[in-house]
Amino acid sequence: MIRAKITGVIKTLGVRIKDILEYPYDWVTAKRWLSAINTKPLAFDSTEKKIMVVVPHADDEILGIGGILKKHDKMGHKICFIYTTDGRKSWSRNLDEDQMATKRENEANQMCKMFSDAEAVFIKARSMEWIAEEIVDRLHQELIKYHPDIIYVPLGLDINYDHVLNSISLNKALEKSQFPYCLRVFSVQTPIPSDYLNLDCDISKEFAFKKKALEIFVSQNTMKKSFRKVLFFNRLLAQRYNYQLACECIWELSKPTYDDITALCLSGIDLSKTKTITRGRSIKNSCSNTFPPSLIHGISGISRISKRNTAN
Ligand SMILES: [Zn+2]
Repeated sequence: MIRAKITGVIKTLGVRIKDILEYPYDWVTAKRWLSAINTKPLAFDSTEKKIMVVVPHADDEILGIGGILKKHDKMGHKICFIYTTDGRKSWSRNLDEDQMATKRENEANQMCKMFSDAEAVFIKARSMEWIAEEIVDRLHQELIKYHPDIIYVPLGLDINYDHVLNSISLNKALEKSQFPYCLRVFSVQTPIPSDYLNLDCDISKEFAFKKKALEIFVSQNTMKKSFRKVLFFNRLLAQRYNYQLACECIWELSKPTYDDITALCLSGIDLSKTKTITRGRSIKNSCSNTFPPSLIHGISGISRISKRNTAN
């Protein structure tokens, strides 16, 4: 027993030292960001049985909330993944655009099988070449059909065009959908400002699952460095709460606050050129690989969002 405990401590210490050596800059600068977090533990309600996750790409769901989704799964909740784009613009030496789109769909289906009761819906807008209006009706139909209790969506204030459009499209689809739901925003690679996060989730028991699920996305091998960064970030958050291994934090918000985000998204995007224009940087110059610059980048305007109550 004592021996197992000592081994555990040494192992944790080893991981921490590795993290400090790999991400020294983030390690230091993230402290301030972490200290501003003030969240409550996420409670899982057995009456909220239908979960919908609206993402532009296969891998966003696991990167952002893989642990939380596994917890829903353990509660016996049903999950519907909606993929708005075909993700064809991901770069790979061996795949052309069509092959990439097919591969990403296959990977999403494979990932789905890791959950007890999950389905995937592929809307297939051409990645980086679509406008929100094209997709709003499809999303609206899926919302009406599935009637989710909880909807998860990545933060739209991102430098990735698909992420911005995904968020705008869902917002417009929700305008048409008159039913009660709980709305939760998560970060993929652009962190949400810490004082907006309001729920945390200890995913220590689900962390191995999250890592395993991420391994499915082999089409994203060139992004593996940023995958590792997200896991590092989960470990960093765990320290803030003294959780054993890992933590995910999210922002539960009201529709009016989501409207404010959407207004900001629209101000940072050039639909005619299908690219984000936030601070004049192109998507290609994305620094989403590094924590503090990405924190500053896509979300500088977020301070203008009024903090309204979180009830929907
Ligand atoms: Zn994405």
